[in-house]
Amino acid sequence: MQTDIKFLAGVGPKKATVFNSELEIFSVEDLLWYLPFRYIDRSSFQKISQLEAENLVQIKGTFLRFTLEGQKFKERLIGLFADGEKTIELVWFKSISFIRRTLEIGKEYIVFGKTTVFNGHLTIVHPEIDILDDNLLSKSTMQAVYSVSEKMKKAFITSKLLNKLQKSALELLKTKIQETLPEYLLAENKLISLEEAFQNIHFPQNADSLKKAQFRLKFDELFYTQLKILKQKRKQKRIFKGYIFEKVGDYFNLFYKNNLKFELTQAQKRVIKEIRYDLGSGKHMNRLLQGDVGSGKTLVALMTMLLAIDNGFQAAFMAPTEILASQHFETLTGFLENIGLNIKLLTGSSKTKERRQIHEALENGELHILVGTHALIEEKVQFKNLGIAIIDEQHRFGVAQRAKLWAKNTNPPHVLVMTATPIPRTLSMTLYGDLDISVIDELPPGRKQIKTVHAFDSQRLRVFKFMRDEISKGRQIYIVYPLIQESEKFDYKDLTDGYESITRAFPPPQYLVSIVHGQMKPDEKNRSMQLFTSGQAHILVSTTVIEVGVNVPNASIMIVESAEKFGLSQLHQLRGRVGRGAEQSYCILMTSYKLSKTAKRRIQIMVESNDGFKIAEEDLKLRGPGDIESTQQSGLSFDFKIANIAHDGTIIQLCSDIIQQILDEDVELSLAKNAVLFFELEKRKRTKLNWRIIS
Ligand code: ADP
Ligand code: MG
Repeated sequence: MQTDIKFLAGVGPKKATVFNSELEIFSVEDLLWYLPFRYIDRSSFQKISQLEAENLVQIKGTFLRFTLEGQKFKERLIGLFADGEKTIELVWFKSISFIRRTLEIGKEYIVFGKTTVFNGHLTIVHPEIDILDDNLLSKSTMQAVYSVSEKMKKAFITSKLLNKLQKSALELLKTKIQETLPEYLLAENKLISLEEAFQNIHFPQNADSLKKAQFRLKFDELFYTQLKILKQKRKQKRIFKGYIFEKVGDYFNLFYKNNLKFELTQAQKRVIKEIRYDLGSGKHMNRLLQGDVGSGKTLVALMTMLLAIDNGFQAAFMAPTEILASQHFETLTGFLENIGLNIKLLTGSSKTKERRQIHEALENGELHILVGTHALIEEKVQFKNLGIAIIDEQHRFGVAQRAKLWAKNTNPPHVLVMTATPIPRTLSMTLYGDLDISVIDELPPGRKQIKTVHAFDSQRLRVFKFMRDEISKGRQIYIVYPLIQESEKFDYKDLTDGYESITRAFPPPQYLVSIVHGQMKPDEKNRSMQLFTSGQAHILVSTTVIEVGVNVPNASIMIVESAEKFGLSQLHQLRGRVGRGAEQSYCILMTSYKLSKTAKRRIQIMVESNDGFKIAEEDLKLRGPGDIESTQQSGLSFDFKIANIAHDGTIIQLCSDIIQQILDEDVELSLAKNAVLFFELEKRKRTKLNWRIIS
């Protein structure tokens, strides 16, 4: 399997370099894992006479003639293609001379593509063309198609050639493909062998054998991804002794009796119980708390910190932005009035003198709670005995930053990470397999559903009127502009233009409009923010800096400008800034008329649903796991060849169940029957799968 690709018949050194650089294919094994992206089902073709517009079609026939049309430099090539009954025009705007050189009149081809109407009749623009080659793999009715880049084409590596190479690779390795799963797993789960899977993925006999091959290979990828994470998790649990917070003490009780002004929701109670159990168990807690925006995670965090303090430990609370950190600081300080705890805020803009005092109070144990940004994980910040670290909006932090917090003590503090970006179950199982998960699936009582509407730019005057009405009722309004790249002047122009036009429509002294964006100095930013949180400013114009966590219960309208430029989870986060008080809240998504299909779908989902988990699932389907913010920063590579986290939830679940059973019996994978698992895991650790999960 490790044979260098250049020694495979038909490759040679020149093509090998292209394989190396374009596809990271170095060995014959790598080649086998280069999987087809679709198949030509050679048993089914449509008739040209029956084609309709906007369909993916496959037809078989010959070219009758080629003609060039259009003006010079804007030419198009028309190939008249016939299936014996009727003809259709195939059109090329690019690569004309190449096409003209390679396609022959009279030879049999398979044409695949999407039908469109062009110049009044049905055509296929830039179709995929294959030679009808009956010699190749005569038994198979489905022919694999591989994606090939321009560079590959230049080196004459075509999909056809890949067909041939896969065939010789499989012949070369006949009976030599090492099985990666133990016999008993294959039998129990009706999985075909790896050899059979490769055979059938590249040369499927029929749809059924293809399905089996796909299942086997997906299983392979997902199984080992999870085995790695879950094994690690068990190890962590064994190695790290957690501090035991055995008692519920005075601070907790005092807070509960005197300061907590409302009843906890059932979900909050349940989660606090789960956390208390962890903290009393002697095991190290590494828990992810998921809860939709506004579900009251901060309170859970606070009560968790009180447990630590009651048992003689310190607590740290880290948030991703200064705005958020100082807001948490204020919220916590408010909650803790008259409790007699020492709580401080540390951010990038803390003054040197203040910093020194904080460092000192931390080291001698006077400081109970430290709230802050990344500044918390700087080396200089040393705790006397940090018992719990809370990380808000987990998806904003990289794994490395989580790791630094762990290292603050000889024994790592308990860790509670919180996120308001609900992560679909399948994703969290793979992504956060190392964390236990608690979910707050209930909002505090009395919240009204946020009404979400889609408005076009042309309806702006009506939106303005609505805003005036709401302001006159005493409400406040957010207006958010997209900011794709902090440095892009372009986006700031949108923002400042927007700010100007809003100020014109809502002029002083009757109205006060405040503005916040990422390029402002922290002081300036705080002042603007303060104007809004204190209720003086009626409108806050901003970029997405307010996306996470900001809490102004009196703000009841969220207007998102150019909403088509935002992702679903971001829109949901933004919407979560309103609906925090008792008033009816609204979210208005402004767009132009020109919307892509997925943008339209995103807006539609937002209008229809308030459920963060449903939105996250849809998001995953629309974007694919690689695009989800949390996976990009996780340090995990989701470089799957065939598995798809968005669609293979059942396989993920199956693998997870099987792995738990295996580890229950044999956590070190030292039993003879699990030897394959052990070796395969080691092998993958050394090669591609290089995860940096915290340990
Ligand atoms: P998030 O989960 O988005 O961080 P917060 O912790 O900011 O939510 O809570 C949102 C608001 O709900 C805050 O004003 C908080 O004080 C309030 N809140 C939290 N729990 C309850 C509850 N059980 N009953 C009523 N209000 C609550
Ligand atoms: Mg929050």
